Amino acid sequence: MSNTYEFPLKQHIGGEAVPCVVEGDEIHKGQLLAYQGEGLGSSIYSSVSGKVIGVEKGLIKVVADAEQPEEYEKLKSTTPLELIKESGLVGLGGAGFPAYAKFSKPFKNGGTVIINAAECEPILSHNIARIEKKPEQLIRGLRIAMEVSGADKGVIAIKEYHTEAIKELKKANSDPSIRIKTLEDIYPMGEERAIIREVMGKLLPVTALPLEAGAIVINAETACRIQEAVDLKKPFIEKDMTVAGKIRGNEKLIQIFLDVPLGTKVSDMFEKAGGDIGHGLSDGYGEIIMGGPFTGKRTFPDAPVIKTTGGLIASECFPKGPEKIGLLVCACGANKERLEELAESMGSKVVGTEYCKQAAEVGSTRKCENPGRCPGQVQKVMALKKAGAEALLISNCTDCSNTVMSCAPKLGFPVYHCTDQALRAVNHKLIRRIKDSQAG
Ligand code: SF4
Repeated sequence: MSNTYEFPLKQHIGGEAVPCVVEGDEIHKGQLLAYQGEGLGSSIYSSVSGKVIGVEKGLIKVVADAEQPEEYEKLKSTTPLELIKESGLVGLGGAGFPAYAKFSKPFKNGGTVIINAAECEPILSHNIARIEKKPEQLIRGLRIAMEVSGADKGVIAIKEYHTEAIKELKKANSDPSIRIKTLEDIYPMGEERAIIREVMGKLLPVTALPLEAGAIVINAETACRIQEAVDLKKPFIEKDMTVAGKIRGNEKLIQIFLDVPLGTKVSDMFEKAGGDIGHGLSDGYGEIIMGGPFTGKRTFPDAPVIKTTGGLIASECFPKGPEKIGLLVCACGANKERLEELAESMGSKVVGTEYCKQAAEVGSTRKCENPGRCPGQVQKVMALKKAGAEALLISNCTDCSNTVMSCAPKLGFPVYHCTDQALRAVNHKLIRRIKDSQAG
């Protein structure tokens, strides 16, 4: 295992952090490595004690001491909001929006803080694992978030099948202003506007922020890290994650790791998960995905774990695709570029690209007008057939994948889904027809 930890200066939405250490500095666990620059951003702290061996190309490298202390350098701020900001915490659902910024405009007449505990991506299960282990930490983090935002209500939104986590939360909660809302098990129920639709009964337009519904949505682990920042004055230096897939020498296909030091190498995580040689991966894997099967990105063994790392999945090898393939892109799944990357790995040429008609353009990205409720896909499938595609590669939600499967096979179209190789690596059912294959 490596004793070198790497800390990119940009692990969040906003500007790069500004280094405040130089090569040769001896540092302690929890020490500030780079502070938040002007405007939106977040500070970066060392997750280990050791010595700085490089500050270059947007990265700080630290070689860790052989012995690591339990203690860490504590934050200095005195108010909850300042502590959240000083801690460098960002939203841990994947986007990395600085956590303090969500609380910058407190509600004037009460509002709702919603904990997103949907853990919507299949395979990922570290959020639920922490809730089952430390339900009181989540409740406390939610209470702090309610106080700093002026909210008078708290809601924990969680999929109905997480019965153990729901039981633990009910046991831990004695606050009448906090309730649990159970969600249907479809993808993308964890999308911010889908959660608001389910909890508040309001479908926001794609350009609206949750505040327009009188709500703030924060991820479950984010709430737990808020508790650590405020009650323990702990900087954000550790991340929970799910490590899964083709790990040589280990039959346990999905493993949870809580409190992984940021900066740890991806290959080290596979070794910790039981891989026996080299990078800990089995001889034949397709790619390593950082994130979930729907929205994760390709990463590499030498990359570091960063603030937004939720999953590391070694996928099954890619199948040989057809010569010509058509892409059907969802706003809540793999984007066009990611589907192109997958098509290339299958050895297929992209001859047409269509977007789900609810995938509305918002700036440089797309957002779904009504997440997880299919608007029909037959026209899109026909358009791709007309473009000369021999098969489809799709990133659709569970409801839309179900619709694609009701028409594409009749047109003689094989269907590949962006999640296939990750799901195959853990023997998970594929995203296809809902009645045949329940998707996660
Ligand atoms: S309705 Fe379309 S854009 Fe929305 S989640 Fe489903 S596939 Fe994606």
